[in-house]
Amino acid sequence: MNKVRTRFAPSPTGYMHIGNLRTALFTYIIAKKNGGDFILRIEDTDQGRLVEGATDVIYKTLRDCGLNWDEGPDVGGPVGPYIQSERMGMFKQYAVELVEKGEAYYCFCDKERLEEVRAIQEASGIMPMYDRHCRDLSKEEVQAKLDAGIPYVIRQKVPTEGEVTFHDELYGDITVPCSTLDDQILIKTDGMPTYNFANVVDDHLMGITHVVRGNEYLASAPKYNLLYNAFGWEVPKYIHVEHIMKDKQHKLSKRDGDASYQDLMEKGYLTPAVLNYIALLGWAPKGEQEIFTLEELIEEFDISGLSKSPAIFDAVKLKAINGEYIRKLSIDEYLENALPYIKKAVKREDIDVKRIAQLLQPRTELFTDIPEQIDFIDELPEYENALYCHKKMKTNEENSLESLKDILPVLEGLSDWTEENIHEALFKLIEEKGVKNGIILWPLRVAVSGKSFTPGGGIELCVILGKDESIARIRKGIEKLS
Ligand code: GLU
Repeated sequence: MNKVRTRFAPSPTGYMHIGNLRTALFTYIIAKKNGGDFILRIEDTDQGRLVEGATDVIYKTLRDCGLNWDEGPDVGGPVGPYIQSERMGMFKQYAVELVEKGEAYYCFCDKERLEEVRAIQEASGIMPMYDRHCRDLSKEEVQAKLDAGIPYVIRQKVPTEGEVTFHDELYGDITVPCSTLDDQILIKTDGMPTYNFANVVDDHLMGITHVVRGNEYLASAPKYNLLYNAFGWEVPKYIHVEHIMKDKQHKLSKRDGDASYQDLMEKGYLTPAVLNYIALLGWAPKGEQEIFTLEELIEEFDISGLSKSPAIFDAVKLKAINGEYIRKLSIDEYLENALPYIKKAVKREDIDVKRIAQLLQPRTELFTDIPEQIDFIDELPEYENALYCHKKMKTNEENSLESLKDILPVLEGLSDWTEENIHEALFKLIEEKGVKNGIILWPLRVAVSGKSFTPGGGIELCVILGKDESIARIRKGIEKLS
């Protein structure tokens, strides 16, 4: 068997849609799973306008994700150039080869004629297609027109009868009647290849064995097959993957703000979490495990796990997976990522940010959520007394007032403000009063934070805030409840 060679062939748009990144991921995985090569080819010819820096976005995204290519524009390789615009001179000879084989022909029809044909077809309700006017010109007629310098395109001679069957590893055989296929243009008037032609020739010249791409290309696949057949080239294995949807009706688009790798980075997601999540979009692992490193994905991945129905982007699940990755970070790694967000909410200089980080880490699903989780540190927010009433803790305004009044002297009396000391003192109080922990600890948490959800409980928060601030907030609570 030939060595497996896969390629990722993005167009540089300045933007890495997560659907494209997923294509890159599956393409990479298939290569690496089979001990093959992963090739990067930049398809920059099918674009109205080039976006500056767009190729760098591709390089950076793939590198961040660890999808390193064995051959590509910047690393070179034996079948370059790997930027399509630098290959433009290579295609015409292949189209001429097809003309010589009787599989393609020169077409000299001008724009006016083509428009007329189209208008007539449309008026009579026929699917617009080239009417094959030049298909049967004699050799002499063609030569005379070429000699006269009449502009031409080269078109493929699609069989007029029969069917063409195209095989996709996921969708199986797809058969279409040849009569529905146009004699597509291979080489345009300016001598440049059409996108479909360049794509096929490039894949062949680069020895590509497996093509993974979005299923928006599925409809053109039979035409690709005819081209391979016309050349007598081996057809690579095709795997068309389903769209990623925002909901049942709509594709996830740029406007949705979650659609690109960059969007997700700006929102504070971790790269390995994003990569893990997008692997699960349209691919189901065999077992229950959902958290995979790239190496594990290579191990686990199987084409049979790919889905034929569109995957729906689930931000809640992505967030949960991100949380799993955040919990796996060392505290220093966590702090490095979290610090800018902690600093957004906490301007006080005397606060132990590492301690805050320790409290936050088990509760962070997204770094950008941090400021809101700790916005009570610098300043106690306004809060409703209703927060003191907690059904499960069996607290109400009355017993909370009592508890805060009991807590105040106990904490004021502590000379050494450490977590152990506060803990010990409060549990002694709990024991003396013969109450459940929540009766003391819930009112404390509310009084020092003004919130019901906090990273850490009352004791930890007291340590973070320091003695004076904690005492002041407890007094404030007593005042509010009195
Ligand atoms: N350049 C195409 C794209 O970015 C890729 C087509 C293919 O993979 O064959 O969508």
